Parts: sequence; structure tokens; C-alpha cells
Amino acid sequence: MSDSSTRDVLIIGGGHNGLVCAAYLAATGLKVTVLERRGVVGGAAVTEEFHPGFRNSVAAYTVSLLNPKVIRDLELPRHGLRVVERQLANFLPLNDASYLKIGAGKTAEEVAKYSQRDAQRLGAYAERLDVIADVLRDLVLETPPNVTAGGWIDALPELLRGARLGKRLTKLDLPMRRELLGLFVKSAGDYLDGWFESAPIKAAYGFDGIVGNYASPYAAGSAYVLLHHVFGEVNGKKGVWGHAVGGMGAITQAMARAAAERGVEIRTAAPVREVLIEAGRTVGVVTEKGEALRARCVVSNLNPKLLYGSLIDSSHLPEDFAQRIQQWRCGSGTFRMNVALSELPDFKSLPGKMLAEHHTAGIIMAPSLAYMDQAYLDAKSGGWSKQPIIEMLIPSTLDDSLAPSGQHVASLFCQHVAPVLPNNASWDAHREQVADLMIDLVNSHAPNFKASVLGRQIMSPLDLERTFGLIGGDIFHGALSLDQLFSARPMLGHGDYRGPLPGLYMCGSGTHPGGGVTGAPGHNAAREIIADFKRGRLKQT
Ligand SMILES: Cc1cc2nc3c(=O)[nH]c(=O)nc-3n(C[C@H](O)[C@H](O)[C@H](O)COP(=O)(O)OP(=O)(O)OC[C@H]3O[C@@H](n4cnc5c(N)ncnc54)[C@H](O)[C@@H]3O)c2cc1C
Repeated sequence: MSDSSTRDVLIIGGGHNGLVCAAYLAATGLKVTVLERRGVVGGAAVTEEFHPGFRNSVAAYTVSLLNPKVIRDLELPRHGLRVVERQLANFLPLNDASYLKIGAGKTAEEVAKYSQRDAQRLGAYAERLDVIADVLRDLVLETPPNVTAGGWIDALPELLRGARLGKRLTKLDLPMRRELLGLFVKSAGDYLDGWFESAPIKAAYGFDGIVGNYASPYAAGSAYVLLHHVFGEVNGKKGVWGHAVGGMGAITQAMARAAAERGVEIRTAAPVREVLIEAGRTVGVVTEKGEALRARCVVSNLNPKLLYGSLIDSSHLPEDFAQRIQQWRCGSGTFRMNVALSELPDFKSLPGKMLAEHHTAGIIMAPSLAYMDQAYLDAKSGGWSKQPIIEMLIPSTLDDSLAPSGQHVASLFCQHVAPVLPNNASWDAHREQVADLMIDLVNSHAPNFKASVLGRQIMSPLDLERTFGLIGGDIFHGALSLDQLFSARPMLGHGDYRGPLPGLYMCGSGTHPGGGVTGAPGHNAAREIIADFKRGRLKQT
């Protein structure tokens, strides 16, 4: 089977980056088809009914990193997107009697319960982080300078690009440059220990350093993961996290509508089996059904390891590239649950089942960095932590479209579990047991919780891989470590969204600036592809 239509671009994967890339390409008049394996587009940013009458963002669950330019260019609000703020940013039940709240106008007073000194340092900490986050914000929509193998003629444009980016860093004074270096190489724990003395505030901020990062908060490089979580904004408010009304699927449905309006053809339940390569050039794809589709170029929204390891025979790839991409480090310590609840949790430290601001917050159950460190050590030796780290979000407190009236849905974002269990044990055999452990942990803070669970959906790292194609359950399509960032994402020489095969591009989270619902890789890849069309590099096949 083959199709005879003249198509400019085929995109493998209808995750949010595939959709963003498609929309930008189609806006220039290119003819684009998106092929999505699942029955629904959106990848890890989808809303689904997981229990009769209860819907939730089943994987990604909170929004901040979505780039404002992407929101504007795709007119996402016109296509139905509305993002609302939480009443309180975070709530940390610490033990039976004490808690910490983080939120505008509240944090200093709350932190002062544990340390006056820390409360006084909050302002300076936020200011520093914001200046550094501004540098990242400037870079997210840039194509990283590509490290080329050719002579100076090839290298010159990249050197100029590097120089332009370097110039941006000159905006930072010397103390800020020192801070930036620290944030790129230090552990989140060391960084936060340098700022604060009391455990609760370090836990609140340090949580961002272990999100999706299977590591101790004292692992070198985890400070960058923390930074990666603060460059976003909600409705113009920097660093804030919010809720997309209708769940994360509302974002990707709006993107799909924007793409379709520009003429993009979106096919769901259309898994791609193979990338078609002729005479060393990418010319199309073959679907699982055996249909061959041709286009002037192919764009992959997949984890690079999945693309090059499963859809392309390694004989087509340069040997060094094929070997290195197999070593691409993937694997989050993430275990994800969705629960249907008959009532709101009644916390021992802050009693009450009536809706209050702390129920709308990201509820972090992990009282200290030492606790998080132990969770990692447990998972490393035994497959999961006996005292796990959980962020619980109850989006139905902000959005009545998700659950029947008076009832609720909650996302449990749990860490640390091993992406692959020790001793060849299977997640299929341990999923329920670990889910019980997660429920028990929440119950230890809110004793009505267990009895209020009406239904649950469980996703171990293996389930995340099977359902969404996230290898090792890696929520970012690859670790956010210095050797896998910027020009090295996914590999030096291919940091500009172009792979080693002519006509094959990458637009997913395995490219700069990495994971999260940002839309930035899709935006940047589209810019490079459009440039190649304009330069006449992508000819009719
Ligand atoms: C549990 C979890 C929680 C998270 N929480 C948050 C959060 O709260 N906020 C946030 O900003 N980010 C969060 N993230 C990260 C964020 O969701 C991802 O980084 C982002 O959604 C990835 O988008 P993408 O478009 O690059 O790739 P994906 O969303 O992975 O999309 C890739 C698409 O390709 C499809 N595909 C795979 N193989 C094939 C094939 N052979 N043929 C056709 N299609 C194929 C997949 O089905 C998928 O739709 C979370 C992720 C997870 C998993």
C-alpha cells in the first residue's frame, strides 16, 4: 500500500510538540500530516476518563512552562484554552501537627515558623533565581549552536550563534554568573543548603530538583532540574504553576484545533513502524498497517532513543551515532496515579474536609531533603522507596468539569521508584503493591483518604513506557543533565533539530530545551525546517 499525495511533511507522534511543530509549518503553507499512535493526540498531556464519571490529566498535570509565544501564535485561548491559578502554590504537611504553606504574600510568615533567618533570605533567593531564570527564558526559543565536524565555513554560522548567545550572558554581573555556574553543576541540596537552614523550605524548593529526575537531591546537576521548573509563568505571572481548565488535554486539544485550522491532517490510531530511507535520505514512513507514506521530510516527536532504536535500522546510521544514542540516559523515578475521591482529604496538621486554599495547592509529602535522599537510596536498592515522595494535586478544586458534584479527582505524582526493577522483577507484578504504599502514605497525613478512594489508575514506569512511549517512564524524553542539554540534546552535532539522516528532524522533548509542556522544541524545530525549505534543501521525493 502507498499513497500518491504530494505531502511536504510527515510528523511521527501527535504529542504537544508534534502538534505545535505542525501548526507552525502549516502556517507557511506546507502540507503536513501528523501520525499519532494512540487514539487521542496530546502524548503525555491528555485528559481521560480513568474511572466512570471522573476525568483527569492522566500524566502531566500542571501548567507553567508552556511558552507565551506559542500560546499567542497558536491563539490557544481562542481555541478554548483557559489557565487558572491555584489559591495557594504549595502545601507541605510535615507531621501530625505542623505544615508549611507557600504562596504569594504568605511564604515569609510561614517560613518564619521554622527560621527567622530563612524568612529574611527568601526575597534575595527569589530575586537571584528570577534573574537566572530570565536567561533560560531567553534561550528556550533559540536553536542551540550546533557543534559541527566540518571546517571553519561550516563552523562560522554556529560560532556566530554561540557568540550571540554568549552576549546574552554578559547581561549578568559576576556574582550572577557564579550563581549560574552553581545552578548548572551543583546538587539542588548543596544549592539550597547554601541559602537556607530549616528543612521545610528546602524540601519545598528541593522537590523541583527531583521531579522526573531519578536521583538524590544531593546528586550533582539536580540544581539545574530545579531551575528547569522555575522558568515558566501563568497568565504573565513568572514562576507560577496553574491548572488548564478541562485538564492538560485542553492544551493539546486547543493545539490540535489550531493545527487543523491551518490545514494539518491529523491521523490518530496510526502508529508508525518504520522510517523510510532511500539512498541515505529520509523519504517517508511505513505505518503498522503497512501503508507507505511519502513526504519531503519527516519529523519525529519521539524520544530520540525510541526513534533511532526502534524505527530505523542502525545500518542507516553513522556507527558512533547509533552507539551513542543507545546510551541516551532515560528513566524517571516516577510512579503516577489518578484517584477518584468521594471527599477531600482531611489533613491531621490542618484539619477540615471543606474546600480550603491548601486543597488547591500542590501538596508535597516529603518533609526534608534528607527524606528525599533516603527515598532515592531505598528505590535504588529495593525498587521503590518505603517512604516515597508524593506531590498530590486535586484539580477538581479549581475545575468542576472533572468530577461529579461534591466529589473529586487527584493526581498523585510519586517518586522515587526504579525505572527498571532490580533482579529482573517486573512492574506488572508489583504495581498494585506500590500503589497501596502510595495511598498509605497519603493516608498517614490525611486519615480519611484511603476510605475516600472510589477508583484508581496506576502507571508504573513500565506503564508510562507502554502507554506513551516514554522509555523508562522518562517524563522528559531523557535526563536533564549537563551532558544531555542545549547543544548536546540529544547529541553534539545534532543540537539543531536535524538528525544524521538528511530529511529527518526531531521536535520532541529530547531536543532543546527539554521536557515539560513547553511547546518550545516544536516551535524551534519548525523554524529550522522552514529555513531548510526556503534554502531548497528539501526537494520533492
Ligand atoms: C507522569 C508525568 C507527569 C508530568 N507532569 C508534568 C507537568 O505537570 N507539567 C509539565 O509541564 N510537564 C509534565 N510532564 C512532562 C511533559 O508531559 C512531557 O515532557 C511532554 O508532554 C512531552 O511532550 P512531547 O510532545 O515532546 O512528547 P510526548 O508527549 O511523549 O508525545 C510523543 C507522542 O508520540 C506518540 N508515538 C510514540 N511512538 C509512536 C509511533 N511509533 N508512531 C506514532 N506515534 C508515536 C506517542 O503516543 C505520543 O503521543 C510530565 C510527564 C509525565 C509522564
